[in-house]
Amino acid sequence: MTVTTEVLVLEEPRQLVRRGLPLPDVGDDDALLRVEACGLCGTDHELFTGELFPGYAFVPGHETVGVLERVGARAARRWRVGEGDRVAVEVYQSCGACAACRSGEPRRCERHGLADMYGFAPVERPPGLWGGYAQHQYLAPDSQVFPVPPALDSIVATLFNPLGAGIRWAVAVPNTRPGDVVAVLGPGVRGLSAAAAAKEAGAGFVMVTGVGPRDDARLAAAPDFGADLAVDVGVRDPVGALRAATGGLADIVVDVTAKAPTALGQAVALARPGGTVVLAGTRGTDETPGFSPDAIVLKELSLVGALGVDSDSTRAALELLASKKYPFADLSRRVAGFDDVSQLLTDMAGEGGPAPVHGVVVPPGAEA
Ligand SMILES: [Zn+2]
Ligand SMILES: [Zn+2]
Repeated sequence: MTVTTEVLVLEEPRQLVRRGLPLPDVGDDDALLRVEACGLCGTDHELFTGELFPGYAFVPGHETVGVLERVGARAARRWRVGEGDRVAVEVYQSCGACAACRSGEPRRCERHGLADMYGFAPVERPPGLWGGYAQHQYLAPDSQVFPVPPALDSIVATLFNPLGAGIRWAVAVPNTRPGDVVAVLGPGVRGLSAAAAAKEAGAGFVMVTGVGPRDDARLAAAPDFGADLAVDVGVRDPVGALRAATGGLADIVVDVTAKAPTALGQAVALARPGGTVVLAGTRGTDETPGFSPDAIVLKELSLVGALGVDSDSTRAALELLASKKYPFADLSRRVAGFDDVSQLLTDMAGEGGPAPVHGVVVPPGAEA
């Protein structure tokens, strides 16, 4: 008798179809995860609407938290986990042996890449269970698996990915030091995570910016996540606001906006001479109104691109979430089942009703 598990397959844009797939056998080196929750980010709604086009069909979901239902002996030793443990699964696989993996850059692993990322790999490739919109996710031998501290529930734990990104982009990449003035552009879950990460690293002053009424609630929440100043750039000039509050400009600017062409100009204008600008948001266009390339020269700025998370940041994120120092549990959040996730993704894409700061999908049987 073959036992099946329920998944959602994105067969084409906006077509999430419920399917039953057989549960695979587990050997010494791999594992099977019973999914409890999967976080949703901008990538999820862009895959759903077809703005990102990875090649269909696949099981989406790359911010997965669940319980190890079966784990091979060698995998358990390698990941330092056991059956029944709650874990978070990184989107990238990593061989651990190539030059990139050994130098702490698993995102550039030579044996893995975009084609076998969780939440993207094709459902036709056995065993098909490559994403988190599912009752079970298969964990291949080169998975990166992180134990979830017992104090964390699975829904809040799905923030391991955005908070890991916030820690890497706002602290590790720009080498943020105690006392630094940090400006974060974008007040979504990644922006609030970046603010909390900067504050946790000892930043002396943290500003968060947003734009327009859609960001009102997010900017209102920003002080709870370490922001000393929250600015709606549609109402107030962020450079003037930062100068008025601190007497100067930012040591570190972190841009986590999405589709905000003016953000690059603002980021450069907000940085002090000799400062660092981390570009972690994509504009979706080559137009950058208000951007002065000469300012980079005259101020001798460092501009750094940042994409994705590494294992140190993920571990630090899980610890910070478990510490409950910041109210991540109370973020504006919508938890969808399989029947509601299409509507949630539509809302998150800005095509429907109001979008939550944090969206999560929970498979059948794992509902609270
Ligand atoms: Zn994501
Ligand atoms: Zn590798």
